[in-house]
Amino acid sequence: MSTVRDSAAQSVPLLINGEFVQSTTGEWIDVTNPATQEVIGRAPVTTKAEMDKAFAAAEEAFKTWRHVPVQERTRCLMRYQALLKQHHDELAEILARETGKTMADAKGDVWRGIEVVEHGCSMPTLMMGETTENVANSVDTHSMVHPIGVCAGITPFNFPAMIPLWMYPLAVTCGNTFVLKPSEQDPLTPTRLAELFHEAGFPAGTLQVVHGRKEQVDHILEHPATKAISFVGSVPVATHVYRTGTHNLKRVQAMGGAKNHMVVMPDANKEQVINQLVGASCGAAGQRCMAISTAVFVGEETRGWMDGIREAVSSIRPGPSSDPDAAFGPLISPAAKERVERLIGTAEAEGAKLLLDGRGCTVDGYPHGNWVGPTLIDEVTTDMTVYKEEIFGPALLCMHVDTLEEAIELVNANPYGNGTSIFTRSGAAARKYQHETEVGQVGVNLPIPVPAPFFSFTGGKHSFFGDLHAYGKQAIRFYTETRTVISRWPESDLPTGPNMTINLR
Ligand code: NAD
Repeated sequence: MSTVRDSAAQSVPLLINGEFVQSTTGEWIDVTNPATQEVIGRAPVTTKAEMDKAFAAAEEAFKTWRHVPVQERTRCLMRYQALLKQHHDELAEILARETGKTMADAKGDVWRGIEVVEHGCSMPTLMMGETTENVANSVDTHSMVHPIGVCAGITPFNFPAMIPLWMYPLAVTCGNTFVLKPSEQDPLTPTRLAELFHEAGFPAGTLQVVHGRKEQVDHILEHPATKAISFVGSVPVATHVYRTGTHNLKRVQAMGGAKNHMVVMPDANKEQVINQLVGASCGAAGQRCMAISTAVFVGEETRGWMDGIREAVSSIRPGPSSDPDAAFGPLISPAAKERVERLIGTAEAEGAKLLLDGRGCTVDGYPHGNWVGPTLIDEVTTDMTVYKEEIFGPALLCMHVDTLEEAIELVNANPYGNGTSIFTRSGAAARKYQHETEVGQVGVNLPIPVPAPFFSFTGGKHSFFGDLHAYGKQAIRFYTETRTVISRWPESDLPTGPNMTINLR
């Protein structure tokens, strides 16, 4: 078995039916360290025959795995949880190498995934059904939840531990089997996660890992065995996955991109606002679907806060994951860097005020890294390209309105709806905001409102296509179907005869 710890530039294996095997493909995708461009691995573009094998293994394993008692399935997950904790730092190191994240961000990525696994360890109670006695004369009703079959996950580059861990641990512990297609840009972390999954005792065929791009995703969307698809990525691909998957009568949850606003009321704690805005916008190089990319300042006096914000944002700098003082790492790829720099250019050209320009950023000793420095853009308006497109870089856009109502209108007019926040000392303003904003996750005096794993990740509008959200109770419903049994046992049918009489008293 090859393992991701073994070699510097290894060929990433496929996981099919419990075996880590090398693909026979002739097409490979380089995995690079974003701080250096060093090639640290290569991911196979899985062949059609290998995709079919992965699905056949998942279908076969489902036949027996579905009948394994839920406590036994959960014991495998408990062992997985322990192994993930034991290998937490090692996983974070692999992750930092292929994403460029700082060690703190890399550890956070792994840890948030572990928390979802922890929650899944209550699966016997999470999978309980409901019962009502006596819904009619001698009639009782109970419902039970069942696994649905082969589920699939397609994940983005920006959280290569957390997002896969949102999916297969819960799906498989529900009794399903799984095919994971992680991002081709950072497949080493998900591969190591899969090795630990098997070490935890999950049987062969419960999890397959395949690699590739659109062609492999389309195979998943069309394969007759696929029953449910969890997708996380950009809006155009989320739209494609949702449309094609549902057209093929699959169950789909598709999480897309975002443009998250933080509304700053004039009565907010100025120091807190400034401190929180820095990390919320530029942390993880802005490559977070919950990053605050836009601050909406309410009232004239908050205009005076811009100098403080400029000073705070300019005090942080990017660096490699080995630098404990770096606030964030490089962008994932040269293409991502080019896109962010282009968007900053459009802001300048379309009349915004560039208070800090992160283009052309360099980091000593890392001349080839995909660096973009912290960027602050003021006087942004809703018609500007930089506002309309998701930036996914270390940039904060600032906008100004006169009233809370105007801020709510602005946020609600934006097609994205992943997260938003309000900073205020007024309970009434906070209450109005959380009731009237149409965004799926709302923070009050905290900038990035990511729910703990026993809630669900409830992004909305074009940041989410589907009905049931990731993790929490909603995920259990997504990965199961409910069967309802209505039974009638009239007393008149009580057995009679010498040995059958039941003493009812
Ligand atoms: P992406 O959409 O480019 O890729 C996501 C996955 O889809 C990858 O596995 C990729 O191989 C595959 N893919 C790419 N192009 C495809 C195509 N044309 N057809 C089928 N599959 C395709 O996303 P990314 O750049 O890896 O990730 C960043 C995006 O993910 C951002 O937009 C970010 O906001 C979003 N995101 C959203 C959430 C959320 O919970 N809403 C969480 C994290 C990231």
